Amino acid sequence: MIEYTLIRSGRKTIGMQIKDGKVIVRAPMRLPKAAINAFVTKHADWIEAHLAKAAAGQSLPKLTEHELNALAEQAKQVIPARVAHYAAMLGVEYGRITIRTQKTRWGSCSSKGNLNFNCLLMLAPPEVLDSVVVHELCHRKHMNHSAAFYAEIARVMPDYKARHAWLKQNGAALMNRAAR
Ligand SMILES: [Zn+2]
Repeated sequence: MIEYTLIRSGRKTIGMQIKDGKVIVRAPMRLPKAAINAFVTKHADWIEAHLAKAAAGQSLPKLTEHELNALAEQAKQVIPARVAHYAAMLGVEYGRITIRTQKTRWGSCSSKGNLNFNCLLMLAPPEVLDSVVVHELCHRKHMNHSAAFYAEIARVMPDYKARHAWLKQNGAALMNRAAR
């Protein structure tokens, strides 16, 4: 559930805005809380996109080419070991591991099992990096984002939602650091 500040007033419709990185919902006096929660849930994608944009706006310093290369080197040392660890837990095999600087994705898994990870993950907390590793490895079992896919993730990483939330909140700002 997304956290929000509720302001009730004499208005007739429900409205929402993002201000200083916070979600403010304005609603009629008598509108049930369940209806307000449903409204917020329905617009979760919109809210997350705007919160991410707001976070990215507080731009952290851009990374230099040298810093990006150093991150990629670090990632090549760290990520394969994390992949091996979780692949064993999940009982899956995988192919090549490629590290790249990417501005739109954290990782991917091809149908052949080749894995691709963003070197910017080295700037995220280790538990967040692990959650991306587990996500991609679970695609070895399910090439989709079905309930079965998420059940498989939860089996080895019960708190994956909280880790994912970190990326949703801070990911755009991180990727922005690699933008030219
Ligand atoms: Zn996926």
